[in-house]
Amino acid sequence: MTDDLNSHPVSEAIADSLDDHPTPSTTEPKAAKASDGSGFVAMGLAPELLSALRDLNFTQPTAVQVRAIPLALQDNADKPANDLLVSSQTGSGKTAAFLLPVLHTLLQQQQQQEKDENKAWADKVAQAVARGEEAPKKPRRKNPTDTRHVKPANPGALILCPTRELAQQVAKDAIDLVRHCKGLRIACVVGGMPYPVQIARLHNADLVVATPGRLLDLQRSKQLHLNKVQFLVVDEADRMLDLGFAEDLAEVHKLTESRRQTMMFSATFAPRIQQLAARIMRTPQRLQVDSPQEAHVNIKQVLFWADNQHHKRKLLDHWLRDTTIDQAIVFASTQIECDALAEDLQQVGFSAVALHGALSQGLRNRRLQALRDGRVQILVATDVAARGIDVPSISHVFNFGLPMKQEDYVHRIGRTGRAGRDGLAVTFAEWRDRRKILDIEHFTQQPLRADMIPGLEPTQRAPRAPGSEPKRFGKPGGGKSFAGAKRGSGFKPRGPARG
Ligand code: AMP
Repeated sequence: MTDDLNSHPVSEAIADSLDDHPTPSTTEPKAAKASDGSGFVAMGLAPELLSALRDLNFTQPTAVQVRAIPLALQDNADKPANDLLVSSQTGSGKTAAFLLPVLHTLLQQQQQQEKDENKAWADKVAQAVARGEEAPKKPRRKNPTDTRHVKPANPGALILCPTRELAQQVAKDAIDLVRHCKGLRIACVVGGMPYPVQIARLHNADLVVATPGRLLDLQRSKQLHLNKVQFLVVDEADRMLDLGFAEDLAEVHKLTESRRQTMMFSATFAPRIQQLAARIMRTPQRLQVDSPQEAHVNIKQVLFWADNQHHKRKLLDHWLRDTTIDQAIVFASTQIECDALAEDLQQVGFSAVALHGALSQGLRNRRLQALRDGRVQILVATDVAARGIDVPSISHVFNFGLPMKQEDYVHRIGRTGRAGRDGLAVTFAEWRDRRKILDIEHFTQQPLRADMIPGLEPTQRAPRAPGSEPKRFGKPGGGKSFAGAKRGSGFKPRGPARG
């Protein structure tokens, strides 16, 4: 790779915005000053990527993209590439913020290699002719589908994600971005998928998106080499640590030690994230693009106190009849609760399926696809779905069971209000959950406004400051008959008509 490929023009307009202060942000990708994609053009991104951005209707870079892409691309002969530690919320456009610079460089390298090969071939032909010999014939291209020619993948870029769903979403975003790049191959490596299919798909991959466990499995069985990785991205690093991937990260770090750039994205700069960064990065530049406090301005959040589980089910039942619901995710605390809720909702006629970590990956994929295709209206999920699911038609998120960690509340509600739309996040909590609610409020630095539904008020004293009367919510429509309700489930049979 030549130096001129490493160096990258950073336009003044963009360089100006690279200050060290947090950029105010919204959850939704930032609105454009101009809508002609000039922000991306000024970054000097490859024309193939600009075409893909136009197809995707990404008219201007979001705040995190404006700040991270030029820094990630800044690279010259005297200085190694910048390592970046970025705190940025889900929904901020962070995926493209790390994919675009990586894909840009891979593409440039590939084009340079092609040029070099063509030149070497032209020289060889010229030399043969000068010697008065017949021009050599180009060797026939090997059939890429012939298994004898399949070599272990040796990707130039590796993106690590904590969950299979997030990895699949990131891989999908990468495939969208390389649609005009001839020969740049993306592969996704996640647990739960059959090995032969995955190994076949890995063939010739330039960029691999993976969860750590399966990646290391394939590396150990020599189906994949990591010694050519130049770019390592750790997405949702905080979640990665929560899920106990610290040792796997250390191993990947060792296996890719000669890489030129590391980027780490995390919801926060908690001390453990900074310690991880110190271990695997070279004096990273820190970008605080947004904070939980600033995030999710387009998502309305509301809290309903409930007396017990049955009361929560009644509240959920009431809400699910809201005619403004396009699609919804109902979060449960446990896999058992998740299965039970989905089953009870199905019984009374809702189009609902469960999604949690104990289901086979094939089933998880099919269910997620059904949600994306609009064949399922309600996904009942554990926190396995808290990150990575990007379905713009999810209009509502319900927290039936509260998350274990406050950060996950922010990730959960970020499943709605996507692609510039508004969203509604409804949380149900029992009095005994008040500590968790306070923790969430403390984390988001926003009070959760409590509300009541006439006829479904809690009988226990609502734990709120004296004198702050709750505002009543408009009665959701579509309520149907109680007759025939499944005994004890709290859900009424679903009526025929919905808005
Ligand atoms: P992420 O934070 O990467 O999950 O992205 C959130 C959503 O924003 C996804 O639906 C992206 O497709 C979308 N997105 C990312 N960048 C842009 C952009 N520059 N303009 C419009 N939408 C974007």
